[in-house]
Amino acid sequence: MTQIKHADLLRRQAYIDGTWVGADSGKSFKVTNPADGSLIAEVPDMGKAEATRAIQAANAAWPAWAALTAKQRAAILRKWNDLILQNQDDLAALMTLEQGKPLAEAKGEVVYGASFVEWFAEEARRIYGDTIPSHAADKRIVVVKQPIGVVAAITPWNFPIAMITRKVAPALAAGCPVVVKPAEDTPLCALALAWLAEQAGIPKGVFNVITSSHGAEVGTELTTNPIVRKVSFTGSTEVGKILARQSSSTLKKLSLELGGNAPFIVFDDADIDAAVTGAIISKYRNTGQTCVCTNRFFVQEKVYDAFAAKLTEAVKKLKTGPGFADGVNQGPLINQDALDKVERLVADAKAKGAKVLLGGERHELGGTFYQPSVIGDATTKMDSAQEEIFGPVALLYRFKDEAEAIRLANDTPYGLAAYFYSRDIGRVWRVAEKLEYGMVGINEGLISTAEAPFGGVKESGHGREGSKYGIDSFIELKYLCFGGV
Ligand code: ADP
Repeated sequence: MTQIKHADLLRRQAYIDGTWVGADSGKSFKVTNPADGSLIAEVPDMGKAEATRAIQAANAAWPAWAALTAKQRAAILRKWNDLILQNQDDLAALMTLEQGKPLAEAKGEVVYGASFVEWFAEEARRIYGDTIPSHAADKRIVVVKQPIGVVAAITPWNFPIAMITRKVAPALAAGCPVVVKPAEDTPLCALALAWLAEQAGIPKGVFNVITSSHGAEVGTELTTNPIVRKVSFTGSTEVGKILARQSSSTLKKLSLELGGNAPFIVFDDADIDAAVTGAIISKYRNTGQTCVCTNRFFVQEKVYDAFAAKLTEAVKKLKTGPGFADGVNQGPLINQDALDKVERLVADAKAKGAKVLLGGERHELGGTFYQPSVIGDATTKMDSAQEEIFGPVALLYRFKDEAEAIRLANDTPYGLAAYFYSRDIGRVWRVAEKLEYGMVGINEGLISTAEAPFGGVKESGHGREGSKYGIDSFIELKYLCFGGV
């Protein structure tokens, strides 16, 4: 691959117990470039047996890893962070190759991904316990925190690096070993991360990557093997529910970052230009393929036309193309299924009376490219009101007053991210409190950062990643009662 300068970063084997290995069956699967369908590499197509071995290796590596001081683990994590940053260009190129996002955005994700490693390297040393005033004169109460044990991480393709570091870094910081099953569309970034982890000195067995084209088989093992104590998943609500059911047989602790249906409310007192800027970043980032991307724009009647016109003008300026091309900020969709879904939802909206203000068709580039689109006069009868579009299509709804906006925004089983624009301080508090979402952007369209807790409510899942809270789910509290004092 001419784009990758450091050839070692393009791995064609999976990583189990500190060893680069193929599948037991000898089979592999193809990783292709969504921009043109070309083959990038083949990686091992693993199944249950390899997953079991990785879990056992992780379990064997756990005591020594947990026995290191927090400072020692932090030093290794910091080294990993440095290596990720030093290899930013190659990792970004690998990401653009297999995921399709524009190179500048891929470079941004590498930094964002590394920021979780840096953050949790710092947090490793602050996993404090507690002493509690006792209920009896001759007893003392102490709470210690211990690593939960072997962690399984199942990750999606839309952030091939950041969704791994956001899970793996806190697990390692807490003293837990991890088995990662990356998405079948983007295993190469995961393997490159593993190689850098190896270079950073993460001991064998502590970080394992199993590649597979059939997620369910490996996923079933990761969620039913009793050695695994914690499953951290980012992906669809549908698969999240399967994993939750499977994990119930051994009562594993679960973190689930699932689908969203983000509302973006523009009140008539909003700064419309700022709202348009926020709309572009929250809707068209990663070509609309993030779980916090706006799915429904609710615009108050008085400013609807002005917002629609300004948004349409801004979207016209977006440039679609292969991620390596100059000036491109909209890449291809990840695969044919993704394109089919966007087409289906747009066709349904059109059939039910929506008005196309811009785009609304496949892109002339062909493949899985879709035109950045703005569609007005959306209604709750359209399928897109309840389904994530996951593409570069903004759907605009009108509303009359604050109560209606809140009712519409909350009218979904999901509750990940929400956004709204208003300059009325009273309204800002009222709306922020009433939105049933785990994260709310107020006059802001970009909210993800290592310092803040990322996560949802309702069917968007549970648990928080990043922030000082993100390490909690990799830790067990142990209460020690000292008697006879
Ligand atoms: P998306 O809609 O983002 O593609 P999915 O939920 O389909 O999300 O996939 C996210 C991750 O879950 C991927 O790593 C995929 O391989 C994995 N996965 C899909 N189906 C299953 C399953 N039945 N059991 C375990 N993992 C699965």
